[in-house]
Amino acid sequence: MSDLKHLLASDLRDAPKQIRKILIANRGEVSLRVTRAAHDLGMKTVAIHSTVDSDSMHVRMADEAVCVGGPAGADSYLNIPSILSAAQITGADAIHPGYGFLSENSNFADLCQQHGLIWIGPSPQTIDTMGDKVRAKQAAIAAGIPCVPGSSGAVKTVQEGLKVGEEVGYPVLVKAASGGGGRGMKVAQDESELESALAMAASEAKAAFGDDSVYIEKYLTKPRHIEIQVAADEHGNVIHLGERDCSLQRRHQKVLEECPSPALDSDQRQEIGNLTAKAVGNLGYTSVGTVEYLYENGEFYFIEMNTRIQVEHPVTELVTGVDLVAEQIRIASGLPLSRRQEDITFDGHAMEARINAEHPFTFMPSPGHVTGYHPPGGAGVRVDSHLYAGYKIPPYYDSMVAKIITYANDRDACLRRMKRALHELIVVGVTTNVDLHNFILNEPAFTNGEYAIHWLEDRLAELNETDEAS
Ligand code: ADP
Repeated sequence: MSDLKHLLASDLRDAPKQIRKILIANRGEVSLRVTRAAHDLGMKTVAIHSTVDSDSMHVRMADEAVCVGGPAGADSYLNIPSILSAAQITGADAIHPGYGFLSENSNFADLCQQHGLIWIGPSPQTIDTMGDKVRAKQAAIAAGIPCVPGSSGAVKTVQEGLKVGEEVGYPVLVKAASGGGGRGMKVAQDESELESALAMAASEAKAAFGDDSVYIEKYLTKPRHIEIQVAADEHGNVIHLGERDCSLQRRHQKVLEECPSPALDSDQRQEIGNLTAKAVGNLGYTSVGTVEYLYENGEFYFIEMNTRIQVEHPVTELVTGVDLVAEQIRIASGLPLSRRQEDITFDGHAMEARINAEHPFTFMPSPGHVTGYHPPGGAGVRVDSHLYAGYKIPPYYDSMVAKIITYANDRDACLRRMKRALHELIVVGVTTNVDLHNFILNEPAFTNGEYAIHWLEDRLAELNETDEAS
């Protein structure tokens, strides 16, 4: 499993850019994750927090903490002037953005650099290109990555849309160019539905992202979501760290992820991995990142690139033994990658269950006072969480409160270990979605590894119908 022999602090002493103190512009489990990596590397961290997060575990575990504003994200975790001031008064020399919030905000990355701070991520220009999905797709095609058939750019009129629909065939998916978190997407089953799908996706996109540009893709009916983890340094070295299968989704949001994908063999892994690493090199990318694909009938189709660490990164860490956050910090220090492609091996199987404070089947959020907490443990179990007994989960942020990650020699053993870990987990005082995971882990489609992205929603809808009929 994880080893840090390539990532010792001694290596960082000679780095071109010296990082001694990292300000983490985030909260919760990912802030804690970065503090852990920084401490392992002998660095200090500064946590930021909103007024309702002062007792959060990410604040307690960091070396220093600064309150940057009120509870709403816009007042605190998205408040750029406050965050930059916090970096200045604490003498931080680098910024780690985590995921979500400002992690893919090129303006923030740019401002950090202008203020002499090391940005732990790719260049603002790359973030900008990849943040606009229309431009990202064009860049992907130019770099040699296969894409879902669709419009070559933003679609501005219904006429243009109808032409694309005719070319690629229905159903089609209208997507927001600035999209994220599964928002701003609408399916049109046939041409009669296209006009309203375009209008609805555009207005949802305008409300969510302040940008109403949309584009069209062929809607794949039975794809898997398979993504490739990459790492690239400032010296032109690029490697891939295999795939993660994130096909278990609800409302286009990931629920449970695994590595390796039950659908790929090692030749397919090397083929798509090498192609992706080469393309990422062509893009001049630096830092860790993820290229997301849909996979159907043996073909890969690019959907987007995430220019940050992802929620599901631990499954890759367990299978490859590479600490991705430490690697990300190392790259930002100007050091070469700790591994060459031939050093990367894929051993065993890992799964991650996202534990949310919400009802397992109605998905109603359940924030509040956690009166009791017992995390699972034992062989092959990792818990990334900011939970503790007495913690009050605020209602203002994402409902994810823990990630239970299990690792074993093969998929069956990993699955049994996940069942055991979920059985051991105790969270008292709020409702969690553990029963949804228990349900998934016992479904033949999952145990056989034969699930695609729409499977979970279809299966839940089926259950609802049975409930209503009885
Ligand atoms: P976001 O940035 O909002 O997460 P993505 O482009 O990454 O959007 O897509 C999120 C999810 O939406 C995918 O994992 C998949 O479930 C679904 N999706 C996206 N594009 C398509 C497509 N062309 N056909 C079918 N499903 C799609």
